[in-house]
Amino acid sequence: MKTVLRGTILASLILLLVFLVACGGDDTTSAADQEGTTNDAGETTANEDRLQVVSSFTIITDMVREVGGDKVDVHNLVPTGTDPHEYEPLPEDTKKAADADILFYNGMNLEGGEDGWFFKMIDSVGQDHDKVYSLTEKVEPMYLRDETTNETEINPHSFINPVVGIQMVKDMRDAFVEVDPDNKDYYEKRASDYLDRLGEIEKEYADQLGELPEENKVLVTSECAFQYMLDRYDMKEACIWKVDTEENGSPEQITSLLKFIEEENVPLLFLESNVDPRPMETVSKESGIDIFEKPIYSDEIGKPGDEVDTYVKYLKYNINIISEGLSQ
Ligand SMILES: [Zn+2]
Repeated sequence: MKTVLRGTILASLILLLVFLVACGGDDTTSAADQEGTTNDAGETTANEDRLQVVSSFTIITDMVREVGGDKVDVHNLVPTGTDPHEYEPLPEDTKKAADADILFYNGMNLEGGEDGWFFKMIDSVGQDHDKVYSLTEKVEPMYLRDETTNETEINPHSFINPVVGIQMVKDMRDAFVEVDPDNKDYYEKRASDYLDRLGEIEKEYADQLGELPEENKVLVTSECAFQYMLDRYDMKEACIWKVDTEENGSPEQITSLLKFIEEENVPLLFLESNVDPRPMETVSKESGIDIFEKPIYSDEIGKPGDEVDTYVKYLKYNINIISEGLSQ
């Protein structure tokens, strides 16, 4: 009896050992992957030598990875599926913000403006404003007007327009060079490759949107986020609400959109990946116009591994969805 028990324990221990070795092996591999990178001179750079970057939301975070490569570690603040207009920073975010060498945000009130959550966080840790870079300083702002109150506000969603994305990448490159001049050539090379890719996508936007039938050049979405892109390519826009966080989908907003749809002979409706679908479903039901089967992306890219997990994929995906939906 004792021998059997001992045998069982021994067998269990061997299994456990095999398991631990297997797991340990995996850990060692990934640790080695992350431990350091070899630069052009063949020297290994430790993680601590990398520039510590904080970025306000997923699109900018992806740009940081493209331009910064293995010279930077980036911490993303607003995760996919969360509204960047209003965000509650986590303790981890605050810590990273305090330790950062450089911080990027969109600006144009995307992160709530000067009094919004982003600057509250920056000031709460006493972070130097000179290390904080807005990526829309050179972008000509466009405004949204609320018909009921007649108030205007800046539209923060300029990055949906690839022309603006290109400008943001240039500003990011210049910021990296300013903060980390030793790696100037590295940032410039990576930015240049990335800008070539974005330039090609911008051409696709001009071509594909230019080819749409004139009467179909209208995009209807939940939030009025697409203004910069539509203005750039001479398309009309209609939506249920202005910037997210306000009243979303009130009966007045829906009635006003239904009136537009009827007058303009809108062919199709679109639904963003990160909004409440119900208001647009009501519009669809009332107007008899279909919602396109696939969502469109506005304030975010998907999580790593998702179909739309980079800014390049985001731009390509949106232009494909829009031209597929509106070309019929
Ligand atoms: Zn938004």
